[in-house]
Amino acid sequence: MTIAPGSTIGIVGGGQLGRMLSVAAAQLGYRCHIFDPHERPPATDVAAGFTRAEFTDTAALEAFSRAVDVATYEFENVPVESLDLLGNRIRPGTVSLAIAQDRAREKAFIEQCGARVAAWREVSSLADVDQAVAELGVPIVLKSRRYGYDGKGQAWIRSRGGAEGAWTAIAHEPAVAEAGVDFAAEFSVIVARWADGRHVFWDSAQNEHREGILRRSTVPCSDVVAVQLEEAREATLRVAEALGHVGVLTVEFFAAADGPVVNEIAPRVHNSGHWTIEGAVTSQFEQHIRAICDLPPGPTDLVGKGAVMDNLIGDDVNRWPELVADPGAHVHIYGKGEARPGRKMGHVTRVTR
Ligand code: AMP
Repeated sequence: MTIAPGSTIGIVGGGQLGRMLSVAAAQLGYRCHIFDPHERPPATDVAAGFTRAEFTDTAALEAFSRAVDVATYEFENVPVESLDLLGNRIRPGTVSLAIAQDRAREKAFIEQCGARVAAWREVSSLADVDQAVAELGVPIVLKSRRYGYDGKGQAWIRSRGGAEGAWTAIAHEPAVAEAGVDFAAEFSVIVARWADGRHVFWDSAQNEHREGILRRSTVPCSDVVAVQLEEAREATLRVAEALGHVGVLTVEFFAAADGPVVNEIAPRVHNSGHWTIEGAVTSQFEQHIRAICDLPPGPTDLVGKGAVMDNLIGDDVNRWPELVADPGAHVHIYGKGEARPGRKMGHVTRVTR
């Protein structure tokens, strides 16, 4: 069913993704209503409505549900039961959320979809971690099953004696132990899918991370990635279809010597797609709104030869005077308070003409 401009879109989570979704929605004539527990999350600067409540506040969620025509989420760490209260208003559905927020379910699901992940084991004790080291060898990365993002809740085991330290570093939380992948590059495939199965891809960005945080996305990707894109897109589409996903879905890959290996999925718009705001005809944010409101897909072609997106992490944002003076730089500042180390404060995109 088409949700017409003028309607209200609820967004659960008020971070920078909610902010950029709200801007894109407003351009199409929608009003956005943010649901977030924080005092003044970034999206509320540009949204028409705001409910400040915990993600577990049932009464607040029910009132939010009545106030919106359709709802979406920009953040994975929301209890599935809370979003189930929104019934068929929530797009994508909560299946995508449930799978993406638990790394063990996510990996099993990706494998069921016929895509490859790094060799992995579920671990819930030091004995399990020792056994994973014995079976998979080193290096291994332990990732807590839940609440991980930007490399948080992760610890590497680089030698056989390193298991205990890593298990302590992730606070003995249930986790997956994952073999280190020897990759030539990292890249992401972003797809937008409609309820009737229509779908569109963008060009894939090649992604550079430091300390587990995305620093730079470059489009077009290099040849080592380009040769793996067809297989990676097929895998992404199988995942999106198996989830019955509506909206934007991102799959992050390693380009390994023997083909693409899925790192993780995000059931939402993604940092590695921020370049699409200026670098593609239709941005990932506008496309997500189009898909959840059942408007036709917009074209995803590049507007130039390519684009480079650099994140502004922590103090990087203090470079804003120099950046806004650069005529080739599209500067985005998220309006967050303190520039803590590792915090995503903004990004800059340069389109290659
Ligand atoms: P994640 O939070 O799972 O996306 O991990 C953050 C970053 O850590 C990734 O983008 C990689 O650069 C690195 N990383 C994570 N898992 C692995 C792995 N199994 N092998 C090699 N590098 C990894």
